[in-house]
Amino acid sequence: MTPIEKLRTTLATLSLTAIDARLEALLETAAKKEPSYAEFLAEVMNAEADARRQRYLKARLQLAHLPYLKTFQQFDFSFQPSIDERQISELRTLRFVHEAANVILQGPPGVGKTHLAVALAEAAIQAGQAAYFMTAHDLVADLGRAYREGRLDRRLRVYLAPKVLIIDEMGYLPLDDLGATIFFQLVSARYERGSIILTSNKSYGEWGSIFGDPIIATAILDRLLHHSTTINIRGDSYRLKERRKAGLIPLQDQPHNQPAEPPVSATNSRGKRSNG
Ligand code: ADP
Ligand code: MG
Repeated sequence: MTPIEKLRTTLATLSLTAIDARLEALLETAAKKEPSYAEFLAEVMNAEADARRQRYLKARLQLAHLPYLKTFQQFDFSFQPSIDERQISELRTLRFVHEAANVILQGPPGVGKTHLAVALAEAAIQAGQAAYFMTAHDLVADLGRAYREGRLDRRLRVYLAPKVLIIDEMGYLPLDDLGATIFFQLVSARYERGSIILTSNKSYGEWGSIFGDPIIATAILDRLLHHSTTINIRGDSYRLKERRKAGLIPLQDQPHNQPAEPPVSATNSRGKRSNG
């Protein structure tokens, strides 16, 4: 066996697949650049470490159950001037994740709420945190089923484990009494322990109608908003813009900007970290 053949066998035994795949390139570069022994060894080990990190991130991304993968780079902020980019920059530091604070994205359909929620989840995953995405409807249906089967506590743990839980499309459908109670339990259990990123087409004033009960709505909002940032997007749908660009919507039929109601002023009064 030549030294290279021996090396390949050892790499296979140790499952160092990335080094094996890049062996020729690594050796060639070393022959050309003549690095120190330590530099060469570091280069070789990094090849494996990088590949493992990529595999790990990919697995985490798959586990997160995202509806699509979009990042901040793909978001056109000039299309949504109502978004305060400083607020977004602050969120991108992921301080809110470490503080177990929440993010609420409000606005009409198509303005980028889910895109931004996904981008934050992606950033958190890149930083080594676990994230999990669910629509409000599926989440409540899943926990409702668990409740009826007498395993709510166990099932709740699935939604308590990830540092970041994304609850998408809160308010599109109203919740029944059980749904509201379960949602309250979930928000209470995550309170000050893990972040919730929530998207909604409803302003806080309309939350009573989601839960059918203003008292439970207030109790949920109280916990949700204590440490939170609200991003209120008032603008046109990006989906419409794309269709308009394709000439599918004549100009006179274009919907006007529909400003979402501003968040009620009391919502953030207790949260010293709030900047919504
Ligand atoms: P919603 O507010 O209804 O959740 P989405 O976030 O799903 O809307 O956005 C709808 C589509 O438009 C997605 O494909 C999203 O990536 C895209 N989109 C929305 N806003 C922007 C934007 N400002 N820049 C780039 N793409 C955008
Ligand atoms: Mg959405």
